[in-house]
Amino acid sequence: MAENLNLFTSTQEVIHEALGKLGYDESMYDLLKEPLRMLHVRIPVKMDDGTTKVFTGFRAQHNDAVGPTKGGVRFHPMVSEEEVKALSMWMTLKCGIVDLPYGGGKGGVICDPRQMSMGEIERLSRGYVRSISQFVGPTKDIPAPDVFTNAQIMAWMMDEYSRIDEFNSPGFITGKPLVLGGSQGRDRATAEGVTIVIEQAAKKRGLEVKGARVVIQGFGNAGSFLAKFMHDLGAKVIGISDAHGALHDPEGLDIDYLLDRRDSFGTVTNLFENTISNRELLELECDILVPAAIENQITADNAHDIKASIVVEAANGPTTAEATKILTERGILLVPDVLASAGGVTVSYFEWVQNNQGYYWTEEEVREKLYRKMVDAFENVYTTATTRNINMRLAAYMVGVRRTAEASRFRGWV
Ligand code: GLU
Repeated sequence: MAENLNLFTSTQEVIHEALGKLGYDESMYDLLKEPLRMLHVRIPVKMDDGTTKVFTGFRAQHNDAVGPTKGGVRFHPMVSEEEVKALSMWMTLKCGIVDLPYGGGKGGVICDPRQMSMGEIERLSRGYVRSISQFVGPTKDIPAPDVFTNAQIMAWMMDEYSRIDEFNSPGFITGKPLVLGGSQGRDRATAEGVTIVIEQAAKKRGLEVKGARVVIQGFGNAGSFLAKFMHDLGAKVIGISDAHGALHDPEGLDIDYLLDRRDSFGTVTNLFENTISNRELLELECDILVPAAIENQITADNAHDIKASIVVEAANGPTTAEATKILTERGILLVPDVLASAGGVTVSYFEWVQNNQGYYWTEEEVREKLYRKMVDAFENVYTTATTRNINMRLAAYMVGVRRTAEASRFRGWV
């Protein structure tokens, strides 16, 4: 049988299994197997050449029993309704794992910002906010950056919402520039969280991060900051990649040079002649492998050829269920996405708290609080996995879904 590469149904399967292990019956699964609300919007945008193009966008709100829903907005040509639904469910899990008072949400617009002017992206961002404004807000559903959206886009969205709301509403969205109520450390938070879990995972395996050989797939926000942090900790980053190809140097790549030359969409390998394929990159001899790009990269097809002893998922959904089984059986420690990449939403939560209280924290305070959250989350998931003798993904789902299930029960929804 071909393996299941559908993110939505494979997420449903693990949620089903996790709820079963927690002792919940089918009615709880019936509540949590899909978002409670799914908006489908069409956004007309005046393009620079005078024509109007209508874009399709989505906003999914998985479950708000614990608190407002929270999650990023993705601008990408491959966005689909199913993907946005799955991503909103992952946000519920992430928020549960790091213990934030939120449920999961997610948004996306089918578009290619690499082919659009700044003016067109601004009009699309504002149009998206106008089309979802009735359903979102600082106490309802709080958007944030995701693939190909950034602080500037958050600023336009916040400005548009503030005009509609007739209030200055910084708590409507997170990932804003510092001058508009952003938090210290938000831009690097996902990579910082990944770094913290890498350190914890390495400790469990008796591996020194200093001197360890690290391979990172993807050089976007998470991948590029992570390469820097790993390099600063004395690890040897021997492989990186972007959408066009991958680079390998067994002696360690010149990360500062690569960071300096990458464009805002994370492209850098096009400047080099000696590249390897993404498949070769994943199968490099190394200690720590971090898929930080897109879905379904480690599958039943290549899981047997992965050489790393620790795999940390900085991207959403890079390893299939089948591959998760294979890696676990092979004794590889897999730190799942919903745990490893939860640093971003954690600092988003800190940003929202600071907006609500109108008092702002230092970089040190943010870093310390993030460290605590990530270490506690890692321990919790690791202990659940080892005491129950289950893989880290199922353990993370159990930890992640528990609070939403309990809150839904207390509210009398099930
Ligand atoms: N888009 C990020 C994620 O997938 C961050 C979400 C947020 O900050 O709300 O976790």
